[in-house]
Amino acid sequence: MFSAPPIALYIHIPFCETKCPYCDFNTYARIEPLMPGYVAALIREIELWGDLLEHPTVRTVFFGGGTPSYLPSEDISQIMQTANRSFKIEEGAEVTLEANPGDFTPDKLTTYLESGINRLSIGVQTFDDHLLGLLGRRHSAQGALDAYRMAQDAGFDNISIDLMYGLPEQTLEGWESTLEKMLELRPTHISMYCLTLEEGTPFEAWVRLGRMSDPDPDLAADMYEMAQDAMSDAGYRHYEISNWARDGLESRHNLIYWRTEPYIGVGPGAHSYLGDIRFANLNQPREYISRLMNAEGGKPGRDDAEVSDLKKTIDRVPSVDTTEHIDRSLAMAETLMMGLRLDDGISIPDFRARFNQTPSEAYESTIADLTNLGLLKTSDDRLLLTPRGRILGNEVFSRFFE
Ligand code: SF4
Repeated sequence: MFSAPPIALYIHIPFCETKCPYCDFNTYARIEPLMPGYVAALIREIELWGDLLEHPTVRTVFFGGGTPSYLPSEDISQIMQTANRSFKIEEGAEVTLEANPGDFTPDKLTTYLESGINRLSIGVQTFDDHLLGLLGRRHSAQGALDAYRMAQDAGFDNISIDLMYGLPEQTLEGWESTLEKMLELRPTHISMYCLTLEEGTPFEAWVRLGRMSDPDPDLAADMYEMAQDAMSDAGYRHYEISNWARDGLESRHNLIYWRTEPYIGVGPGAHSYLGDIRFANLNQPREYISRLMNAEGGKPGRDDAEVSDLKKTIDRVPSVDTTEHIDRSLAMAETLMMGLRLDDGISIPDFRARFNQTPSEAYESTIADLTNLGLLKTSDDRLLLTPRGRILGNEVFSRFFE
């Protein structure tokens, strides 16, 4: 039997009322009739993991999507009850739910609080109504402000806001105004993402066909710089390349990803990382439901001395579609790539404890080169990106995979 360490739990909700034209996440509009079957299957998957891993400790829970707030709040409550039965959720664990501003009602928010949700992540994206229309979002700028206040009035004191920049037709003045409106709310945490044109999305096709202007990368870089200054002036810590937080209110769940610590993801397309295996569920919600509902108690175990206990455990979950063995060298490169995204970088003693080597011993010439180029530095037993290294992050990270 595989003995699981404390984990984070990600719960995927694949429903959206409408599909935004820039989004390539594993989410679907117009499949609402699947909701009841989906919740039943999700509950089965959570129970199965709880049993197979012998009810491990859960450090954080994150409802992501998709639009978790689009699901009836009673379903969220039932899913949380299942998670509490199946795992030992740590006292005071961070429990986040992603939400669209238009979905809130006072009753819904109360049900969330009663279910144990103590943090909301609201997808505001921009406080410009024209851009919200372009993004295909269902809410207005005023609707987002009202939703934020409603969540506060209901009793939420830990609210994160998501914003997007580098949008077609977005100006520097417009972005400044969005930043000002967001800062007036004093959220605990802000994530800001630059728009990327993902292949297969309407946005990518519209730009390719000349029906929409191509976002300007130089302007996006100016917007990022403006955000850095505004957030620093407002007293936020820029703790990860795309994330800012008030002191002590960093996203604990996402820190687990950036520190390459173990997590289980449930729901279609959700990824997990346990021991030396990364694995993912199949993407299609219908197939996900059918596999879980047709294999109560999971798939039969196999008796094979060549296969590790962890792999045998994973193989028993019918929704798992792909597994990847993460060998030591890949684990080291990924640990550096993810950890260097953080402002406090990598703890060298922790890295040595995990891999029996310091980063400099494992990547001697690469680290010397990057340090000489002024992209990396070592300080107080930590390996960090310099400010210039932060701008050229992707080039730094790629060097560890050569
Ligand atoms: S609401 Fe979020 S997850 Fe759903 S389609 Fe829009 S961007 Fe994608």
